[in-house]
Amino acid sequence: MSFCAVVVAAGSGSRAGGGLPKVWRTLAGRAVARWSVEALLAAGAAEVVAVVAGDMEGTAREALDGLPVRLAVGGATRALSVRAGLAALACSPETPVLIHDAARPFLGGDHVQRLLVALEQADGAILALPLADTLKRSGPQGLETPSRDGLWRAQTPQAFALGALRSAYAAWPSDAEPTDDAQVATAAGLAVALAPGDPRLMKLTYPEDFAMAEGLAGAARITRTGLGYDAHRWGPGEAVWLCGVRIDHDQTLVGHSDADAGLHALTDAILGAIGDGDIGEHFPPTDPQWRGASSDRFLAHAAQRVAARGGRLVSVDLVLICERPKIRPHRDAMRARLSEILALPVDRISVKATTTEGMGFTGRQEGLAAQAIATVETPA
Ligand code: MG
Repeated sequence: MSFCAVVVAAGSGSRAGGGLPKVWRTLAGRAVARWSVEALLAAGAAEVVAVVAGDMEGTAREALDGLPVRLAVGGATRALSVRAGLAALACSPETPVLIHDAARPFLGGDHVQRLLVALEQADGAILALPLADTLKRSGPQGLETPSRDGLWRAQTPQAFALGALRSAYAAWPSDAEPTDDAQVATAAGLAVALAPGDPRLMKLTYPEDFAMAEGLAGAARITRTGLGYDAHRWGPGEAVWLCGVRIDHDQTLVGHSDADAGLHALTDAILGAIGDGDIGEHFPPTDPQWRGASSDRFLAHAAQRVAARGGRLVSVDLVLICERPKIRPHRDAMRARLSEILALPVDRISVKATTTEGMGFTGRQEGLAAQAIATVETPA
């Protein structure tokens, strides 16, 4: 089901210490708020708006660089920030919107799924956990022990139809400060369902929370690998494109595009790592617009698909299989070109070559083959 999302990242979060507001501090190398935005994109969000404090816009842009997310400037209170986020969304009023606090970085696709399923039966749905600890109230009469019956710890995201939540906020009195969105929704008469929460959706509040979160961070991302293979036939020509580099040669590779088998194999490896089809699906060879196209755009597209899922490339490795031309003299230029296209440091890019000692179609010099493997990290 299509959904949109507002990530509330406008708080000052001073209790967590560390100078910067907590949502812009780094957790395992990435800004806290980036974790949630990446997770929502990976879960399939059609549109994500991050609400940030006016004086944090530059920091936010840097922290969320490369992600398809829009920024909105928040207000003095959480409610004003949510209103600003809701106003900035372009989705239709029936679309589910997830409101999420950026201070809860360990959002996963399963949480989103649970909310969307629960939302089919109600006007709103929130993630909530039962209380495990005994409750105490200290007052003038001493210590009391209130019952835990019917009490829940509300987490975020919280999900509603966009139009219904906008109306609920419009009806909410401006002098009252709700602590979550479900409070606004129920005040407007909406029925809100509970979906199972998750202790991992902890809210980073105090300095010691960051130490615990660093320990959890490793489990919140997964590493995936993809494999690619391509081959093209040799034909008459005077130069060949391999890994985005033009090499003078007495033959060329024949194909619909520039026939850069290295880039094609690598594009397929990256698409494979995120389960996103193959190069032929994204750029059909029957489509005349790709005739003679330079293949760097195919590779850049695959890298963008990774970013759009909240993922990042970790490393790539490629083997060119041919008798001629000699690859070694061009290897550094190829790695440098791949580094440019993928925005990946050169030391995470490997290009190798081998012959097949005269055997097979590459050995008979009928064609050139390429194999590639890509390692990608995405939200779990
Ligand atoms: Mg090809």
